[in-house]
Amino acid sequence: MNQRRLEIESNLVEVEKRITKALEGTGRERDEVTLIVVTKTYPVEDVFLLYDLGVRNFGENRDQEGAAKAPQLPNDASWHFQGQIQGRKISSINEWSDVIHSLDSLDHAAKFARLEELSSEKAREFFLQINLESAAEHRGGIAKEELESFLESCPVTISGLMVVAPLEVDPYSAFSTLSALASDAGVTKLSMGMSGDFEVALKAGATHIRVGSSILGSRTLLA
Ligand SMILES: *Cc1c(COP(=O)(O)O)cnc(C)c1O
Repeated sequence: MNQRRLEIESNLVEVEKRITKALEGTGRERDEVTLIVVTKTYPVEDVFLLYDLGVRNFGENRDQEGAAKAPQLPNDASWHFQGQIQGRKISSINEWSDVIHSLDSLDHAAKFARLEELSSEKAREFFLQINLESAAEHRGGIAKEELESFLESCPVTISGLMVVAPLEVDPYSAFSTLSALASDAGVTKLSMGMSGDFEVALKAGATHIRVGSSILGSRTLLA
């Protein structure tokens, strides 16, 4: 346990150094960027260690996993849902998450809006996921051509755009595209960049980076 804490702590320090370095020359400060530590597949004990080390933003891809972990953490933790949304899971996702990064359906947006009306809690924050792959098949997100009409009819407030950089293109160009789309659409937040490309994402204007394996280790090595 102590060993694990030291490992996570040193990885966190390393990632913070990389963030600071990537922000050099951009005119932006560290406090303008939210580091979300992606805890999917890792045990809640790791989340406790992260919390103890000062981390307050956690990312999960599956409803079942987030629903199990989130209630075990103090209330000042923020939970970010970034996986594919299934309609029948929305009321559960709505229970435990604070920020949705992967909205990509008006139907789902309407379900969230209905839940918002029913509850007096603070409103959730939404990022709309954009798919920049050449063939928008399996992975989530709407095509960039659909963005304008989506925003016109979306019943919840969208505060940012999210992307996973496609494998086939240069990530800087994908992130710059997202940044330009957001500024055209008048949304200010950009959720982009993972362990392999968060520096590039920060250079292109990311406000939220989602980092898992650089902090917690490679998921494929977990027994
Ligand atoms: C898993 C995942 C991440 C984190 O990936 P790492 O490479 O482990 O940093 C970020 N965003 C999404 C959408 C993910 O599914």
